[in-house]
Amino acid sequence: MDRVGFAGLGTMGAAMAANLLRAGYPLHVWNRTPGKAGPLVDLGAVEAASPREMSAEADIVVICVSDTPDVEAVLFGPDGLAHGAREGTLVIDCSTISPSATREFAGRLRERGVAMIDAPVSGGSEGAIHGTLTIMVGGEKDDVTRGHAVLAAMGRTVTHMGPVGAGQATKAVNQVIISGTYLAVAEGLVLAMKAGLDPDAVVSALSGGAAQSWVLTNRSGRMVENRYPLGFKVSLHRKDLAIALDLARQAGVSLPVTGLAAQLENGLVANGHGDDDMSALARSIRELSGM
Ligand code: NAP
Repeated sequence: MDRVGFAGLGTMGAAMAANLLRAGYPLHVWNRTPGKAGPLVDLGAVEAASPREMSAEADIVVICVSDTPDVEAVLFGPDGLAHGAREGTLVIDCSTISPSATREFAGRLRERGVAMIDAPVSGGSEGAIHGTLTIMVGGEKDDVTRGHAVLAAMGRTVTHMGPVGAGQATKAVNQVIISGTYLAVAEGLVLAMKAGLDPDAVVSALSGGAAQSWVLTNRSGRMVENRYPLGFKVSLHRKDLAIALDLARQAGVSLPVTGLAAQLENGLVANGHGDDDMSALARSIRELSGM
């Protein structure tokens, strides 16, 4: 069985790493801020002091950190993975980052004999916990085949989308689509409440019809209560929309709904709500509606 390393034990990474342990993989883990590996060590993981140390013990290394510069730091920083990984190591980046930077990172690793695939995920913190994530993969066919068992231990649907970067481009499409769904569910629920309807009854009535969605099922409760525990941080979705809007500019595409969601999220971040779950888009619609 491949020895696996895991860098980034945040909301997603800690849960994904736990599923690799449950699948039987020998696992070395690392997190920038110490103190997050405890529950994984209890499940059998070994904590490493740096990405360099972690990758020296691994055949496959999974990364799940916040943003493009963070992946670059884990890979190429002074104690980075590139300095520890042996030739033939496979890097699987599950973070959501820029497709073009992904291609550049993969090229730099290739010069050292290290392969990389991009495998961003969707399905929320619940999907990470239950191992039911949707995973969109970019990379060479042989590398994707080699990484498949590790990905299948963390997700239910694993799809090879094309060369390196294609997974990240697909994830950008996912984030564009969920911008619209979150905004539409928020608008519908604020309308329901201000029109004097029972919002829980509305959700229940609509859930079997054409308005059904993951957001309606899993996030409407937070919007009704006006409490937004994580989940997925507004600031991280805002980061993803910057990636999508950049891709749209390069492709010559107009994304008005995505642009609106990005502007509303700028406002949420400016008002100190960047660490709220992204269902806090309902906060913006509530305020615009005088609620
Ligand atoms: P999170 O809870 O904020 O965790 C972020 C992780 O990245 C932490 O372990 C953090 O370490 C690490 N990190 C950040 N900057 C770093 C750096 N420069 N060097 C090393 N480590 C660094 O975020 P998350 O929700 O797990 O999201 C992780 C990735 O998955 C993001 O790209 C996000 O867009 C994506 N994603 C999230 C969700 C979701 O529902 N949460 C769903 C799909 C995809 P520290 O502990 O030291 O801060």
